[in-house]
Amino acid sequence: MNEVCGDYVVINPHVWLSQACVRFSNRIEDIYRVSGDSVGKGRVRVVTHGLATTHVHLGLYPIRNTVISGLSLDDWVRKFVWGWERFLREHPEASYYASLLAIRELLSSGVTALADMHLNEGMVYKAVLESGVKADLSTPIMNHGVFENYEEALEENLGLLKIVDDPKVKVRLGPCTPRLLDPNAFKEVVELARERELGVHTHLAEVFEDLVWLKSKYSMSLRDFIKFVGLDKVNAIVAHAVWAEEIADVLSASNFVISHPPRSNVLLGDGRAPIRNYLRRLSNVTIGVDVATTYDIREDLRAYTLLHYEGEGVPDLREAFSLATTAAYRGLGFGKGELIEGEDADLVVWSVEGPVAGDPVASVSWGDSIVEEVYVSGSLVFKDGELARARRSVEEARHVLGEFLSEFFKSG
Ligand SMILES: [Zn+2]
Repeated sequence: MNEVCGDYVVINPHVWLSQACVRFSNRIEDIYRVSGDSVGKGRVRVVTHGLATTHVHLGLYPIRNTVISGLSLDDWVRKFVWGWERFLREHPEASYYASLLAIRELLSSGVTALADMHLNEGMVYKAVLESGVKADLSTPIMNHGVFENYEEALEENLGLLKIVDDPKVKVRLGPCTPRLLDPNAFKEVVELARERELGVHTHLAEVFEDLVWLKSKYSMSLRDFIKFVGLDKVNAIVAHAVWAEEIADVLSASNFVISHPPRSNVLLGDGRAPIRNYLRRLSNVTIGVDVATTYDIREDLRAYTLLHYEGEGVPDLREAFSLATTAAYRGLGFGKGELIEGEDADLVVWSVEGPVAGDPVASVSWGDSIVEEVYVSGSLVFKDGELARARRSVEEARHVLGEFLSEFFKSG
């Protein structure tokens, strides 16, 4: 039995105990108050549930800085992403090393679960297993990019079902996005997901061009498209939904998980997602890191607040944290995302520059916070800035990826 104690134990973003401990095995056994003083001078210790990013591309981690090239989504994809993905195809082990480093940074900001979509997902799985995080994996099924055709991508996605053998890891199908997969093929993938009782992960209405494309090429509105492919009948992670306000009613159904990556939307000029409208309708809005210059989810929590509360008075600083914990965990089917008895022990121990001004959640997101330890299903996976179980692999990853990158940029 393990135990972690804090000056604050955050049960959920709205309820916390001061001076308390959590006792756990793989699940949380007990939470109780203790008497005592702060652990360190000037800093306070805060224990929270782990966070989740519901949309990320771990394999793009090495080229994350390219999102600040001042390019729009399509130009960025054409200039950097396709080339890097072709390179990954030739060097699948680069996906493993990239994922390890990405996961290390996600953990250093308290992320214990992630939904990833990329090629070489078997290599991503290897990094997931080694690091110990929870994951939901899918392959981008499309008729473009590194795949000969969508059937090849679909086969690769289905192949994951044969290799994934860990209760902390799920597989879903990843019809990439309407502009890269025509409605008939998209529908086939969604139907297959339904038959196999799998979820789906897609990019939807990230840019306005998506709507124009559907209208001009297939005479379909977004609403028509969703009905046609059957997205309303499966559990679906819908990344972005920046231009989907016209179907806010559809997206409010419980099978949809909206993944909102604030930094990526701003940096690639996608637009501002109508999050307030989605939340008013009680939609499952969650946070995605997607691709950004850091994979530190705290930066997306802050970006979220700045983006959606500008000019709106004093912001609710706990809202973003709640989207990234309770909403995200429930959306991914990994639990309730709260520290309560019987839930998996996915815990983050933070140290925060004190005082906490009465709100440990806002301090973790906005203050000078450091992740000291992270536990997933009760196992220590991160401590003192490093993966607890794969420290050496991370060193190797830094070395090997450095060489890969210089080869990539030389050839590019
Ligand atoms: Zn994406």
